[in-house]
Amino acid sequence: MRLAILVFATVITFLASCSAPPATGPEAAKAVIEEAAASMGGWTNIESVKVQEILTGGGHWEPMQAVEPKADPLVVDYFGQRLLVDLEKKRMRLTHDGKRSYPQPGPVKFTEVIDGDVAMLETTSADGKLTTERLHPSRFAARMRDFNRLPIQVLKVAKAAPDLTREADVTIEKKAFHVLKYKDGGSPVELHIEVFNKLPARVIYTEDDPIFGDTLNELGFSDWKDVAGGVRLPHSLSTFLNGTKIREDKVRTLINNPPRFDEAEFAIPDDIRAQPEVGERILSQWTLRRAVIAVGYLDFGRSQSVKLDQLAPGVFHVTGGTHHSLAVEMKDHIVVVEMPLFDERSAAVIKALEEKIPGKPIKYGVISHYHIDHSGGLRTYAAIGATLLAHESIVPFVKETLERPHTIRPDSLSKASSKGSVEGVVDSKELTDGERVVQLIAVPSGHAAGMLVAYLPKEKLLFVSDIYTPGAPIQPGDGNAVALMAAITKANLTVDRIVGGHGGVGPFKDLQKVGAMPKTGS
Ligand SMILES: [Zn+2]
Repeated sequence: MRLAILVFATVITFLASCSAPPATGPEAAKAVIEEAAASMGGWTNIESVKVQEILTGGGHWEPMQAVEPKADPLVVDYFGQRLLVDLEKKRMRLTHDGKRSYPQPGPVKFTEVIDGDVAMLETTSADGKLTTERLHPSRFAARMRDFNRLPIQVLKVAKAAPDLTREADVTIEKKAFHVLKYKDGGSPVELHIEVFNKLPARVIYTEDDPIFGDTLNELGFSDWKDVAGGVRLPHSLSTFLNGTKIREDKVRTLINNPPRFDEAEFAIPDDIRAQPEVGERILSQWTLRRAVIAVGYLDFGRSQSVKLDQLAPGVFHVTGGTHHSLAVEMKDHIVVVEMPLFDERSAAVIKALEEKIPGKPIKYGVISHYHIDHSGGLRTYAAIGATLLAHESIVPFVKETLERPHTIRPDSLSKASSKGSVEGVVDSKELTDGERVVQLIAVPSGHAAGMLVAYLPKEKLLFVSDIYTPGAPIQPGDGNAVALMAAITKANLTVDRIVGGHGGVGPFKDLQKVGAMPKTGS
């Protein structure tokens, strides 16, 4: 009887301990960190790792370049990477050797050297030319985030955070995780420790994205193995942006405290050190994503250059950067086609137009297509009360973009009273003030669903982004050029000049040369 009572009491105690909520708060967090450190081999072993050489192979995917907003992310490149990192002196040398398949097949070769607060970028172009420059401040910020979430570093960073705390456990895909929270350089961080093995499973930074706003940037750890020096480290690392995988690294070789490394690997020449670091250190994956697809990001976080090239009375090609817009002055308002890049770009364009055409509000902002570099300004136009016009297939994307919170780096819309509105365009839409006409025409193409071009019949101008770039070399029969030509023919447009979202302004005959339907064999 006594035994039965004892067993009963033990069961009750056991059940109570099972059902008791996990401890939360700073002390509970420290206990979890200690358990995790023990699982990784103990603090002594973790802290004895001063330098690491890590060779990985992997790939990048880009979700915002696919044909449709909800389509699978496009494969950007497959790469081999070597990372030499000096944990004590905060030095890194990262060599990326990638083979890119999108948007232009070619090599992606660069080396970044970080020495404390100074960083350098070496880029090798397709023809083998080497350029050396100061690393862009946003790219630097992203690399330093990656430094602080290296598997060997992450527990140290969490432990040192003054605001480290533990919240209630979570269950993800039937596995339980302890949840630790802290801030790193102002960015909120969530660290998940798997309850079963007490190993770090994922570290999630909340950072800014020009389009998505507050964005979860997650690095997931798996495939843990014992390595020399008595530590366990993950050999598979996956990066997710708001839950979508954008990068995967498989560790091929990992050497702790390599017996010899050349100090010169971390050398940054004096002329690079002397270059001022121009711009803001905005923590965002945006610059790294742009870098691997080898397209412009250099204006991000920097002052904007805006030029208004008059194409006809009241019609301006808005240039000065990598992505252009078209501004059309109507009787009592302005129409802007293309709102690219990020908030600051559009804010600068809006300011330039207010000065050039005072007293006329921007009534419409037209989205050419949803891609990463062509929709970053739509919130800025919504903030000033413009009605957004987009192909109806991407209206849900636009609505979602307008509703996203931007608390990490508040943008124009998050500070405005306007919420923004969007109207869908099916095949075409005409905007007119009775005299001037702007026609928006959908062009089905393989580049992006819901592509709109703008046609001004009186001026015989056609504004187009990405599917045709005036002045750029284009192969005859190019699919996008053919698609554009077919749309022009179908709509019976008379075009003199094509105005580029990239590039310049070119004669229609240049498109005719490359946009003819390829002849099929008889
Ligand atoms: Zn595009």
